[in-house]
Amino acid sequence: MHQPIIWETAGIFAPMNTRQLFQQHLAQTSPEPVALHIASATGNYLTDIDGKEYIDLIGGISVCNVGHSHPKVIEAIKKQADQYLHVMVYGELVQTPQLAFAQKLAEHLPAALNSVYFTNSGAEACEAALKLARRVTGRPAIIAAHNSYHGHTMGALSVMGSEYWRNAFRPLLPGVQHYTYNSQEFIDAIDAQTGCVLIETVQSEAGIREPDPAWLAALRERCTQQGALLIMDEIQAGFGRTGKLWGFEHYGILPDIVLLGKALGGGMPMGAMIAGKDLMQHFTHSPVLGHMTTFGGHPVCCAAGLAALGVLLEEGLTEQVAEKEQLLHSLLVHPQIKAVRSKGLLMAVELENNAKVLAVLQQCLERGVFSDWFLFADNCIRIAPPLTITHEEIRTACARILACLD
Ligand code: PLP
Repeated sequence: MHQPIIWETAGIFAPMNTRQLFQQHLAQTSPEPVALHIASATGNYLTDIDGKEYIDLIGGISVCNVGHSHPKVIEAIKKQADQYLHVMVYGELVQTPQLAFAQKLAEHLPAALNSVYFTNSGAEACEAALKLARRVTGRPAIIAAHNSYHGHTMGALSVMGSEYWRNAFRPLLPGVQHYTYNSQEFIDAIDAQTGCVLIETVQSEAGIREPDPAWLAALRERCTQQGALLIMDEIQAGFGRTGKLWGFEHYGILPDIVLLGKALGGGMPMGAMIAGKDLMQHFTHSPVLGHMTTFGGHPVCCAAGLAALGVLLEEGLTEQVAEKEQLLHSLLVHPQIKAVRSKGLLMAVELENNAKVLAVLQQCLERGVFSDWFLFADNCIRIAPPLTITHEEIRTACARILACLD
C-alpha cells in the first residue's frame, strides 16, 4: 500500500485545521460533507491522511470501474502528458488519442452508433444530445422520467425528474414533460411534437429501478413510429457495471443517441454523446459549429479512457459482475435490510429511513468502508464498487455493514 503523505506535517495547511479550510475556500454544496481527507487511492481502497484504509464501495460514484489508479491508466496518462496536452478546441485537429478512443468505442457499440462527440462531463453530454435532437427534429417537446438524473446544468436540470431540485432554478427549459418510468402513460405521451425521449437505461439515483423489457421495447417502437429520438443515458450503467458492456444490451433495443460519462475517462473527467453519423453531421451546418467545446476530448482524458476500456476488456471485468452481484445478495441479509435492488454492481440496499442510512454510513466509515446514499432514494445505501473488487473484499465489506446494522 502507498505511504500516506501527511500534508499537515509537511506544513502546507498548518496551523489551520484542514476541515475549516475546506469549508472556507471550497464552495460547499452540502451542510455536512463527509470531508474524509484523502492521501491516496489504489485499486479498491481509499487511504486517508492518517493512513486508515477504506474499502471503496462506490468507486467515485460509478467512475472507477477498473479500480483507482490502475497502472495501465496511469502509464497512458503519463505517456500522453509527455507528448501534448491541450492543443486546439474540439474537432479541428487530428489528435491520435481522441481518434483511437472514438474508433474503439464505435467498435464496441452497435454499428449505427458510429460518431462520438466528446465532452467534459455527463451533464454536457446530455446538453449536447438535447441540442442535437432539437436540431435534427425541429420539434419542441422533450419527454423524461420522474426520478431521473442527467446532471445539474440548466438543460440537464430541466429534464431531471425531481421537483425538489428543479423548482428553485426556474425558469427552466420549456417543453419538458415528465412521466413515470415503466408506465403506459409515458409511452402514450410520445407524439408528433416529441423531439426526443430521454431515459436512464437503469434509473440509478432512484435507488436502482430497472426498465421492464416489454415497456422499453414498446417505448422504442413508439419513438420510431412518431419520429422522436430515443436518448439513453448510460452514464452510470455503461462500461460493464450492469454485467454487460452497455446497459441497453440487456434489453435488445437500440437507442438513437447514447450518453456516456463517469467510467468513460478511467478516472479522468469525460463525457460523450454518441449517435449515427447521419444525425451528428447536423452540427456541421446551419449553423456551422453547431456545438462547441474547448476541452471536450482532452488528449490526456482520451488516453486514460482508452487504456481503461482496454483494461475492462482484457481483464474480463464485465463477465465477473453477475457472480459478485450474487455474492452481495447472499451476504446482505439482515432484519434491518428491507430490500436489495440491483442491476449488476449497481445496487441499492434499502433500510427503514434516511436517518438509519446516515447512521450506518457513519459507522461504516469508522469500520473502514466507504459508501453513500442516493439522491432520490435516501433510505438506501449505494453499492457500486470498482468492478475489480474481490470476493474477499466483498465479504469483508458486507461483514462490516452487517456489524453496523447490529
Ligand atoms: N447521468 C447520470 C445517470 C448520472 O448519474 C450523472 C451523474 O451522476 C450524470 C448524468 C451527470 O454527469 P456529470 O456529473 O459528469 O455531469
